[in-house]
Amino acid sequence: SFGAKMLVVLGAGESGVGTALLGKQKGYKVFVSDRGKIGKKYKDILLNNEIEFEEFTHTERIILAADVVMKSPGIPETVPLVLKLKANGISVISEIEFAAKYTSATIVGITGSNGKTTTTMLVHRILKDAGLNVGLAGNIGVSFAQQVAEVSHENYVVELSSFQLDGIEKFSSHIAILTNITPDHLDRYEYDFEKYVASKFRITQNQKESDYLIYDADDIAINTWLKQHKIKAKLVPFSLKKELAYGAFLKGNNIIININKETIKMPISTITVKGKHNVKNTMAATMAAQLLQIRKEAIKESLANFEGVEHRLENVAKVKGVEYINDSKATNVNATFYALECMDRQTVWIVGGVDKGNDYNDLLPLVREKVKAIVCLGVDNQKIKDMFGNVVDIVVETAGAEEAVKVAHKLAEDGDAVLLSPACASFDLFENYEDRGRQFKSAVRNL
Ligand code: ADP
Repeated sequence: SFGAKMLVVLGAGESGVGTALLGKQKGYKVFVSDRGKIGKKYKDILLNNEIEFEEFTHTERIILAADVVMKSPGIPETVPLVLKLKANGISVISEIEFAAKYTSATIVGITGSNGKTTTTMLVHRILKDAGLNVGLAGNIGVSFAQQVAEVSHENYVVELSSFQLDGIEKFSSHIAILTNITPDHLDRYEYDFEKYVASKFRITQNQKESDYLIYDADDIAINTWLKQHKIKAKLVPFSLKKELAYGAFLKGNNIIININKETIKMPISTITVKGKHNVKNTMAATMAAQLLQIRKEAIKESLANFEGVEHRLENVAKVKGVEYINDSKATNVNATFYALECMDRQTVWIVGGVDKGNDYNDLLPLVREKVKAIVCLGVDNQKIKDMFGNVVDIVVETAGAEEAVKVAHKLAEDGDAVLLSPACASFDLFENYEDRGRQFKSAVRNL
């Protein structure tokens, strides 16, 4: 229609197509452009909703006529087209920014290098069990934008990648959770850790005094930033290392939480997900729920019933006394650190894939103590061999999940564990980390 504003959507994946649907509903003239092939599922949605699109190309003439451009998180900020848009003064935003304009729901936003999905699922589970009308959005399932278009939840728990945060202008969370900041995705931040940290802290840039920022008080990068910047939101820390007058901390084997006037005490043993990292995720999720006035009894019950998340330290099967664990989502060194740390058996460790500038030094003591053999699962394994070749007696290279599992099966003995925790991205041999995890699991089941 004449006079309608034009929304251009770059990238026709879950967030792009969700944005297109919402934009159309809100009266925009929408054009979707994908430089690659558009998957059938998304093409059908675009066709059924009479949304114009192109694939295998970006037609600049059309794109530069946009009033607003939504960029999918997979497209770097630095590609020429995006730079050109910005140079032309056209605002380039993320799905989250666009969708948030059209909802007045209470938002719990969760970011961090690791633990986003687990914490998001935990918060969502607690709120849902408590009877709140709550949507789950972010990297999981239906996009935030599509949910805003089709269902009007009163609350959303939103997982936020740094790429989503890079594209915000006004978006804000009532409760923000910053799980931790360790090096990841540095390739997208000019190998500058400071830039990556700044991107994560965008989660709090638009928060008001009445909002909350829940964060890891043991995290060096977070603490450094907090010393140098003023945050408007109320700070709600959690720690495994020190007692806090306000926040969550450990005392012996209990989690103690001290906010909202009432104190919560929970034995770690009542948490179903294992590892120290999950104690932290649980602290963060519990405090978010408390700030939303959920009763502590209800929170405890939800935590006791949480079944964990696929591909995150997921127990697959026990075969001849050997425990097989799928941690395919460990795509960086820090995630693998926590996986190795919570292993209580001698471990055959399946590692490797696309290196993101990994520094394996932090893993050395754990590997020395717990790893009896390394099975490399990647195209280029040189760095792993150089790092651990002198520490672990057996280092074998494999070129597929099935081969890796077979080799690991031969190396493991009764009482051992086989852990897939790659510390790397999966794109050399697999479609994505889910594909890697599924191939691992099916190979285990075929043993
Ligand atoms: P994300 O969504 O941030 O990638 P996930 O919850 O999917 O986080 O977990 C990714 C990987 O990191 C898994 O291997 C998981 O076991 C590990 N992990 C989960 N929570 C934490 C945490 N708080 N600190 C470090 N590693 C974690």
